Amino acid sequence: MNKINQTNSPYILRNVRLETGFLYEKEEIVATKTALFDIEIENGKIKTIDPAKETAGNQHFNAKGKLALPAFRDMHIHLDKTLYGLPWKAVFPKNRTVKDMIAQEQKIIPELLKTSVERAELLIKLLQGYGTNFARTHFNVDPTSGTASLEHLLQALDHVKDSFGAELVAFPQHGLYYTDSTGLMQEVAKWPQVDFIGGLDPYSIDGSIEKPIDFTIQLAVDNNKGIDIHLHEGGESGYKTIHYLIDKVLENPQLEGRTFISHAFALGSMSKKDLAYTAERLAASQVGIASSVPFRNMMMPFTELRNAGVRVYTGNDNVQDHWGTFGSGNMLQKANLAAQLYGYETEFDLSRCLRYATNGKVPLDEKGNIEWPKVGDEASFLLVDASCSAEAVSRISPVAGLLNKGNTVTWDLEEQL
Ligand SMILES: [Zn+2]
Repeated sequence: MNKINQTNSPYILRNVRLETGFLYEKEEIVATKTALFDIEIENGKIKTIDPAKETAGNQHFNAKGKLALPAFRDMHIHLDKTLYGLPWKAVFPKNRTVKDMIAQEQKIIPELLKTSVERAELLIKLLQGYGTNFARTHFNVDPTSGTASLEHLLQALDHVKDSFGAELVAFPQHGLYYTDSTGLMQEVAKWPQVDFIGGLDPYSIDGSIEKPIDFTIQLAVDNNKGIDIHLHEGGESGYKTIHYLIDKVLENPQLEGRTFISHAFALGSMSKKDLAYTAERLAASQVGIASSVPFRNMMMPFTELRNAGVRVYTGNDNVQDHWGTFGSGNMLQKANLAAQLYGYETEFDLSRCLRYATNGKVPLDEKGNIEWPKVGDEASFLLVDASCSAEAVSRISPVAGLLNKGNTVTWDLEEQL
């Protein structure tokens, strides 16, 4: 394997398959049209996109007809406390509530921290192998971890800084007041590497909806950060928490577009009327939802949320840790899961599901016009063994290579000089 790692010297990636439009039959989309292109890359960006030809030019590599897709983005994961790389372990049988899990974490965190740098890097490599070059990662802020979880995560991210990007959420996993984590949260909120202030089930963990949310809002405003809180609570407290957060975001417009609720399971059990009202308010306040596409006992109303204009982000959340083991690390698998859950089967609907892997970016718009890639775009994309997006989502097609800003991260293709 010959890796490309010279962002400054231009090169051409030949025979890249790109989507060029939809094929219609009686006004129905029945297939995706593609063609082969030569893509010239310079300084980490796409310089030219031309129909594939046989002439020689700059140093070139052969994509051999593989399909290019925008690099995947995992928008909810915990890179800091994974067990990935350690021997297999299912979740603990007796720890079923969040408070049980907090007690368990207080016991195991000191041991986990000893190897958390290496394990975060291993997990990042797993994600990259599936075509992901960016993650929104939560990291624990609690009296047991102190600032070590953040420090170790930053070390791991520094080791992969040329090939992987991340935004960081300071996550008070043991509650703000349930264990006194407010001082630590105030401390890490000042760190420039921290992008979001996190939170956890205000009512069930800290006994109040208003007090923890008010603290979180103030911390985000004071430090110019976004917000991304975990909300597992359903029923009345879940509903009230969502609306209280929306109220506060509307009072602090600088948080609009920068505030997210992770999981937000309450949305999955609301009446149609409550959901319509809540979705409308989420859209108006630009509060997004980050979800792992769960399907146990409930179904998240992605379609209703999207139709109302709410941003829906997806991520693996847990890839083999003490909370869960079903995150595969593969964002295409999340897109496939969404397609199966919501009954997206047609060429068009499957092609739209790619959004769940890329955090919104798709090669063709709804009318089949080319949206991606364009000259000047960052050269961050993957190559898959598929004929189009719809097939990649449906088949969870294998990834043959990943480029991050023009550098190869994983590459199973031979160099052709
Ligand atoms: Zn989480």
